Amino acid sequence: MVTIAFDHLYRYDELTKALHSLAEQYPLLMTVESVGTSFEGRDIWLVTVTNSATGPHNEKPAIWADANIHSAEHTGSLAALYLINKLVTQYGNDPKVTRAIDTRTFYVMPRVNPDGAELAIADTPQLLRSSVRPWPRTDEQPGLVEHDIDGNGRILSMRVIDPNGPWKISEHDARLLVAREPDDFGDGPYFRLLYEGWIRDYDGVNLGLAPERRSLDLNRQFPAGWRVHGEQLGAGPFPLSEPETRTLAEALTARPNVCCYFAHHTFSAVILRPFDDRPDSDFPTVDVKTYDALGRKGTEITGYKHLGVYDHFRYDPKDVITGGADTWVYDHLGIFGWTTEFWSPLPHAGITDYHLIDWFANHPVEHDLQLLAYSDNELGGAGFANWEPFDHPQLGSIEIGGWDLMRFWFNPPDNLLEAEVAPHADWQIFCALATPRLVLRDILVERIGDGSWRVRVVVANDGWLPTNVTQRSIDKKIATGVEATVTLEDGSRLVTGQPMIDLGQLAGRSRATTMISDFGGTESDATPDLGVAEWIVSAAANTPIAVEIVHPRAGAIRTTITLA
Ligand SMILES: [Zn+2]
Repeated sequence: MVTIAFDHLYRYDELTKALHSLAEQYPLLMTVESVGTSFEGRDIWLVTVTNSATGPHNEKPAIWADANIHSAEHTGSLAALYLINKLVTQYGNDPKVTRAIDTRTFYVMPRVNPDGAELAIADTPQLLRSSVRPWPRTDEQPGLVEHDIDGNGRILSMRVIDPNGPWKISEHDARLLVAREPDDFGDGPYFRLLYEGWIRDYDGVNLGLAPERRSLDLNRQFPAGWRVHGEQLGAGPFPLSEPETRTLAEALTARPNVCCYFAHHTFSAVILRPFDDRPDSDFPTVDVKTYDALGRKGTEITGYKHLGVYDHFRYDPKDVITGGADTWVYDHLGIFGWTTEFWSPLPHAGITDYHLIDWFANHPVEHDLQLLAYSDNELGGAGFANWEPFDHPQLGSIEIGGWDLMRFWFNPPDNLLEAEVAPHADWQIFCALATPRLVLRDILVERIGDGSWRVRVVVANDGWLPTNVTQRSIDKKIATGVEATVTLEDGSRLVTGQPMIDLGQLAGRSRATTMISDFGGTESDATPDLGVAEWIVSAAANTPIAVEIVHPRAGAIRTTITLA
C-alpha cells in the first residue's frame, strides 16, 4: 500500500517514484507516461486519471492541471500530486470523486520544468526562475552570482556594512533592515543588501549583478500575445521554443476533450484568470460571467481571491505580462484557464488588508514585525534566518541571513503544505463536474411504411457548461458541434439526408442563474440542452443500425438500435 506524504517538497526522483507507485496500485484508474523530455533529458510526466471501465480517457470531458513551470514553486507540484492521490484513493469513498472519475478525465502534469525545479531544491540550491538553458547568452558575465556560499543549503541574503548603504537596522527589531531616510546621516551602521553569492571578475569595488544566464521564463513562451525578449523578459527566441513548453502544448492540444486548465504557481494566495493584456470588457460577456461563477466557487472552497490579471494583478500599470499559459488556452483553445498562486505568509501573519502587488514595494514596518513574529512564534523561526557572521572570500567580514525565500515566501513551511493545497483539489473536482457531457436521452423508432422507419435519437448535455465551453470557441470557430452518425448494414439505406448530422452546440445548466434574471418572462428555459438526430431508413425489420454521437469536449455515445 503506497502512502503519499504531503509534509515536504519533492525532488524529481521521489516524485517520479510516487507517480509510478500510485499507477501500479490503481491500474484501472490511473496511468503515467512520459510525453517529452526536458532540456537536460528528464522525463516530463503526464498522469491520466479516469475509470477505464467506463470508457477511454479521450472520450470523456476533461480538466488539465500542471505545475512547477517556475523552478522554485514546488508547492504547485505537491498540489498536483495531492489531486492525483485524492482522486485514486477516494474513488468509491467520496461520491463526488467517484462521479468525477466515472464520467470525466483528469490530466495532470506535476512538473513541467523538472530541471529548474531540481536545482531549486538541491543540496546546494539555485533559485533560478525557470529553464536551465542559458539564453540569450551562453558566456559568463562579470558580477554577483547567486550561490549558497556558506553551504547551509539555503540561498539567503548578505548584508555588507558600507557608509553609503541604503539600509539600516530597525529600531523595533535588530534583525530587520529598513530603508535609510534621506536625513539619516552619521555612523550608521548602514548596509548594502545583496543576495547570497560571489562576484565573478571582482575588481575590488563594483558589485554589479551578473546578468542571469538562464533568463528564460517558460510561462512567457506561450503563443497568445507573445512578444520578443526585449519587450517581455524571458519570452525566448520564439513561442514554444523550449522542450518543456513544446511538450506541454503538444500534449494539451492532443487532448481536445480538455475543457478547463489549471496552472499551479506560487505565491500570493490568489486564483488568476485572463486576460493578461486586455481588460475584462474585451471578453464575451457570457465568458466573464462563467469565469466568475466558477471562480467564486474557487474562493468559497479555498479562501483565495479570484481576479482578472489585467484589471487586478499587474506589476506595472503601464505594462502587461504576456505569453502566459492561461491566456493562451482561453484565447487560442477556447477553454477556461486559471493560474493558481498558492500560499502567502501575509494572511497567516494577520495581514489581510493589503494590495497584492503594491505591498512588496511599500508597506508599514508593522507588517514586517508581524511577519517576523509569525515566523518566530508559529514556525520556530524558520521564515527568517538570524544574521550570522561570515568571512566572505571576496568581501571579507559580512553577515548572512534574512528571509528564507524558498521556504517562507515561495512555499509554505512543511507543516502547512497539506492544508494549503488540499482545498484546491476540491475546486478542481468541482470544475471537472461542471464540464459538458453527452448522455443518451431517448431512442424513438417509428415504422412509417413497409420497410421504412423514422429513427430519432435524443441526446442531452447533462453538464453545467455548454458543449462549446466558451463563447470564445464559437466566435473564433474553434468548437465543432455535436455530430450524430448512423452506420447501416448492407441492404439498408437512408431514404433522405446524410449519415452524419451536425446538431450544433448544446447548452448546459450554466444558463440558469436566478429566477428573476429574465424580467417579464420573455425568455423561457426551453430545451437548448437537448439535440435530436433524425434519419429515415429503409431496412428490413429487426435490422440493427449503429449510431455514434460525439463532441470533442463532451464525450461520445455509441449505441445499436434494432428496427422494430
Ligand atoms: Zn510562477
